[in-house]
Amino acid sequence: MKKSITVAGVTAGPGQKAYGAVAIPDLLADGQILEIPFIVFNGSKDGPWLYMHVAQHASEVHALEGIRRVLANLDPKTLSGAITFCLPNPLGFSFPACWEVMTPQMNRVGLGDPNGILTERIVDAWWVNFVKGKADYVIDFHTGRRGSPVWVFYEGRGVTAGVSAEVVDKAERMARVFGAELLYKEMEPYGGGNTFRGSCVKNGIPAIVPELDGHSIFVESVVQIAARGLKNIMVDLGMIEGKIELPPKQYLLKWVVDERVSAVRNNKGGVFIPLVKMGDIVKKGDKVGIIYSPRTLQEIETLTAHKNGYVFSIAENPVKNAGDSVMEIEEILEVFENR
Ligand SMILES: [Zn+2]
Repeated sequence: MKKSITVAGVTAGPGQKAYGAVAIPDLLADGQILEIPFIVFNGSKDGPWLYMHVAQHASEVHALEGIRRVLANLDPKTLSGAITFCLPNPLGFSFPACWEVMTPQMNRVGLGDPNGILTERIVDAWWVNFVKGKADYVIDFHTGRRGSPVWVFYEGRGVTAGVSAEVVDKAERMARVFGAELLYKEMEPYGGGNTFRGSCVKNGIPAIVPELDGHSIFVESVVQIAARGLKNIMVDLGMIEGKIELPPKQYLLKWVVDERVSAVRNNKGGVFIPLVKMGDIVKKGDKVGIIYSPRTLQEIETLTAHKNGYVFSIAENPVKNAGDSVMEIEEILEVFENR
């Protein structure tokens, strides 16, 4: 028989949803209590517990509307399992510019620390209240580059010592059924601090990071990818009825630490004009851009692809000094044809 569940003192009976807020007192200088608002859905049948949040990086709100389309009218009576959704960084949500200056390291403090600095205390509140001993799966929604296809970041087997293949494979499955055009697979340890995703995986909880197109907020096509992705995952986990819908093609790209592996660099300073666009597939030696001199307005360098791959990013600022990166080309590990 399905039981009631309680999150931060808020109880939802079987087939019910409830709203609440995790309160962190004694945190802010002016004495205000910081509140992390959340919704908890308790299904009427047993199933996995899915936790998701959006905009831990304050301005990365792009997935919110997609999530709303799935959760706003979700009837918990039709749900198997449970869902918790929260706004993880409420200060940043209201004041992104202030937040980003103040504490840029929110996604590098692992699972936080109740006695640590501000960000560590907030991340600890997510972990203790929403994930630890509760969630079976985690989706940490972010926003990626402007104009880039949506991608889902996750790690491969053997990247983090001590993590079972089962946990890694479950995350990979989530990443695949999310149905973004790109899967971006971490193939070697990240270094330089622990992400929330990585720390969940380390603790045996499959977790992914979808990165939405940051071109403009709530572009309809991107909203639909986010909503479809979330729904696909819930269908695949047996939480709701439905059909998984995937794009015709998905590319699996290899993520590596060393940026030199991906970067196309100019040898001469000048102004960069790309001859390819994001999402193009290129071969080693293909002409991918030029550099011209703003003094003579003459072309001074032809840039070619240094390897076969997928054009993953293109620099937004065309003004380039020698040795700058003008674009990233990522190795394609696999192409999934979905029909
Ligand atoms: Zn981010």
